[in-house]
Amino acid sequence: MRVTYACPACQATVMCDAIETLAVLECSACRTTLSIPADAFSRGTTAGAAVVLDSYPRLRRCVICPSTELFIRKDFPQRVGVGIVVAGLAASCVAWAFRELFLTFGILFATAMLDVVLYLFMPNCLSCYRCQARYSGDGATDTFGGFDLETHEKHRQQVARTKQLSTRPPESLP
Ligand SMILES: [Zn+2]
Ligand SMILES: [Zn+2]
Repeated sequence: MRVTYACPACQATVMCDAIETLAVLECSACRTTLSIPADAFSRGTTAGAAVVLDSYPRLRRCVICPSTELFIRKDFPQRVGVGIVVAGLAASCVAWAFRELFLTFGILFATAMLDVVLYLFMPNCLSCYRCQARYSGDGATDTFGGFDLETHEKHRQQVARTKQLSTRPPESLP
């Protein structure tokens, strides 16, 4: 399983592979380490008296923050999706300027199709509501559901509140 997260100390993007075999994560930029909680992965399920071991460990919670609220999403870089749409729109505008009606709609249709096809073939990944860490690979998405706006809103407000508290200027004296 792979994790991509923002280092809490220096905000650098850190990517770590095979996190189920590690005890700590280390930031490649500032060498800050985060220890992975022992109960972050489930290694099997108990069925009655017997323990059925999984073929791979499953993630139970975020190893960075560590919240238990995570959601499944497509491992699709949003910038790429938006880039395709913008390029398609620009190209269709050029075609429109040359009064190429069929070409204009052809480009728009092709752009939409490309986005749909890319989306369908992209693998799923897991994202943390609170710290935006991303997990991909075997066992990452098994225990969690899709995006929930209510949970997202809850964490967004929490983050906003913490930011407000930390950026409030000290009481100035009269
Ligand atoms: Zn760092
Ligand atoms: Zn997290």
